[in-house]
Amino acid sequence: MKIVITGCAGFIGSNLTEYFLNKGYQIVGLDNFATGHLKNIQHLMANANFEFFEGDIRDLDTCHKVCVGADYVLHQAALGSVPRSLKDPLTSNEVNVNGFLNMLWAAKEAGVKRFVYAASSSTYGDSESLPKVEEVIGKPLSPYAITKYVNELYAQIFGKAYGIETVGLRYFNVFGRKQDPNGAYAAVIPKFVMQFMKYESPVVNGDGNYSRDFTYIDNVIQMNELAMLSENPEVVNSVFNTAFGERTTLNDMIHILKEELSKKDAKIANVDIVYGPTRAGDIPHSLASIDKAKTILRYQPEFSLKQGLAEAVNWYWENLK
Ligand code: NAD
Repeated sequence: MKIVITGCAGFIGSNLTEYFLNKGYQIVGLDNFATGHLKNIQHLMANANFEFFEGDIRDLDTCHKVCVGADYVLHQAALGSVPRSLKDPLTSNEVNVNGFLNMLWAAKEAGVKRFVYAASSSTYGDSESLPKVEEVIGKPLSPYAITKYVNELYAQIFGKAYGIETVGLRYFNVFGRKQDPNGAYAAVIPKFVMQFMKYESPVVNGDGNYSRDFTYIDNVIQMNELAMLSENPEVVNSVFNTAFGERTTLNDMIHILKEELSKKDAKIANVDIVYGPTRAGDIPHSLASIDKAKTILRYQPEFSLKQGLAEAVNWYWENLK
């Protein structure tokens, strides 16, 4: 079985690549290192089942090349981050919409069995209903959210028009090993871990009462595997929330994080937290209903936020301290 994984040098893509190589699949990886890193996949390069292409999903020929003979595509490549898309909507659109369409077209032309793609909780936009159920979305609040919603629309149309099987996974605030702590658009958890480890005060946007459904990477891997292999016909051309199904405020999350890190170094308990202005495009609360994933995909998330944070802290401590 051959799986194409785009964005294979990124946080989620590299974890998927490692997981499926360990399971004996043949993996074709594609990445242009826009935000991913060679170090995430360097240790996999010697594996005879791994073929890596450095290239760009904006180039259709590259997309055709990687899809030849593939059974599945796990499409992760995109430019993440709401603030990035507000600063440069043109590039986010080129990569996340044109690049997505290239990959979907190439997958369809190559006759892949199923195209599983990274969708996003940002698609819920200004909808205030909680928990978020897949069928009720609001208006997008950022260019990034638009691109991710357009992905879903294209996937649905391709399913109907060409019969290709697609599954969208709406990821909710994923965290865990290998997530990049550096750069202007780093996600909060790895950024805060690094700051605590250096005794620097993390800066929270807003009062810290915003809440998120923080989702550990291993739950996301499980969802990708189920979405790829499920034989339930209801899976096809559908979208699924990919989350743990609990909501935690930023303040509570930081508290747990600090507690875990203080077990490694007691001095971290004395690091203060600083509060700044709220950020444009941020939604106040996010919580997924995972009923659909549980019922149709038989998803059973294994890691709560607390368990995931303990794992992530161990990884950052061992690898980046
Ligand atoms: P990441 O930035 O670590 O990974 C994205 C990868 O895609 C990087 O390796 C990057 O170099 C690659 N890439 C970017 N542009 C490319 C291009 N033009 N051609 C080829 N490769 C390209 O981010 P991630 O957190 O691993 O996100 C993976 C996917 O999940 C993305 O589609 C993202 O939008 C989506 N997502 C992530 C989260 C989250 O919490 N991390 C939440 C919702 C959705």
